[in-house]
Amino acid sequence: MRICVSIIESNIEGALASAKRALRAGADLLEIRFDHMNELPRDLSPFRTIPAPKIATLRPVDHGGKWNGDEDGRLSFLKRAMEHFQMVDVELGTEVAERINPPARIRVICSYHDFRSTPSPQRIVSLLEAARDLGDVPKAAFMVNGPEDLLHLEEASRLEDGDREEEKVLLGMGDLGSITRMRADLLGSAFTYASLSEGLEAAPGQIDIETMKWLGENPVITGITGFPLSHSLSPPMHNAAFKHLGIPGIYLTFPAEEGELSPLTDVIRRYGIRGMNVTIPHKEAIMEFLDSVDGIASKIGAVNTVVNDGSLLRGTNTDVVGIRKSFENAGMEVREKKVLVLGAGGAARSCCAFLCDAGAEVMVVNRTPSRALKLERDFPCVRVITEQEALEVEFDAVVNCTPLGMRGFPDVLPVTPEVFRRGQFVMDTVYNPPITRFMDEARKRGAKVLSGIEMLIYQAIAAFEIWTGSTPPYEVMARTVRERLE
Ligand code: NAP
Repeated sequence: MRICVSIIESNIEGALASAKRALRAGADLLEIRFDHMNELPRDLSPFRTIPAPKIATLRPVDHGGKWNGDEDGRLSFLKRAMEHFQMVDVELGTEVAERINPPARIRVICSYHDFRSTPSPQRIVSLLEAARDLGDVPKAAFMVNGPEDLLHLEEASRLEDGDREEEKVLLGMGDLGSITRMRADLLGSAFTYASLSEGLEAAPGQIDIETMKWLGENPVITGITGFPLSHSLSPPMHNAAFKHLGIPGIYLTFPAEEGELSPLTDVIRRYGIRGMNVTIPHKEAIMEFLDSVDGIASKIGAVNTVVNDGSLLRGTNTDVVGIRKSFENAGMEVREKKVLVLGAGGAARSCCAFLCDAGAEVMVVNRTPSRALKLERDFPCVRVITEQEALEVEFDAVVNCTPLGMRGFPDVLPVTPEVFRRGQFVMDTVYNPPITRFMDEARKRGAKVLSGIEMLIYQAIAAFEIWTGSTPPYEVMARTVRERLE
């Protein structure tokens, strides 16, 4: 996969220095975005000293660039640039694209950008065809707003590839579109664009050259879906693990709303995504779109990890590993111990799966009794009780499996603090903030407390192992979590 670095500098000196840096970083070709310069350079001959194919681009404002001069001025500049550059980029639908008339040695990229949306595959193909009529390399870039858009791009590339062998560049923009830059070969692109470094993106979703080189031809692509995902700690944890272990891989976010899970699972298959974590609110809903769900995830009734084996998607649940490791590391042996679980959702079901397996006696208090009764039916060691009844039992451990106390949720206790006692083990599955009111109240009453951070880290380690076969050190992941939560 060839990589073109887009250089956005305000003057020629900066552009030349950045071009050299890009080549040292491994760029195969360079695009100089002259529309980012404060003024157009008179002498373009210094670019001859840069030993790589170069594209001259002077993108007008209404096509996503910064040039606000007229078309005559643009045309005359690009004609001058053709004396020193090997390629020029002109935009479909502009006067310049019609009038460029280049000498035979110059290759023209005819580009189309839509910074708002991605159209149907048929429309993408017709735009590429229109661009091909005016240039040697048609380029089309679209804002990706959801998984369906990624499928449109992939379908368009297949429709196109059916009858054409010529070069093209097809890509998606925005965070969700960034996978199309790593899977440029899949979309049949002759090359892909990268930024010189983070913060210097010429288009939304561009990845820096260093990362692109590190990822190479066939990176392990993983990620997380849910909604919203803006505060997820999983991307920094997994990306740190990939880096630490020297595995070329990346963990991306795939925000998806209800109704987008079917296209999302098709994206996993078609883009060769190795694995995906699933979080609120899709842990249950994702199951019907998978090829199989393993025993533990079926028992819990929720999938937090999907693994793609040759386009067959299997769902599993590593939250239960996170809970087990949290108890084990705290030295909390639960056999024949009384444990109070607060909540009856996915986290509570994972917790009960571990506790029943380990021989504990579990009592559940939940706001909605019917949901708790389902837990009681599914897990033989569970008994549903009221908060009042909980006060009459001396629990060895208490686990909060509700979101109460989590940033963005009401900061109220999920149970009266009178259930806490000296020597008890109290765990919150909430990890943000790292010390919750629930933990604080328990500690004041002499309990030994643990935050949900441990669970978060161990469920991530287990998912990473499933996807890559390698185990990231706990400390590598813990450090990134601490940094983000501080
Ligand atoms: P869920 O399936 O939506 O279940 C939430 C549970 O909390 C339900 O039992 C719900 O009661 C109860 N609840 C919600 N709001 C409440 C309120 N205002 N008052 C009383 N009860 C309330 O969610 P989940 O997947 O189990 O996740 C729950 C929490 O676990 C998350 O917020 C997160 O903090 C934590 N978690 C942590 C990790 C980790 O790695 N540390 C992993 C997974 C989850 P009803 O049945 O009455 O609705």
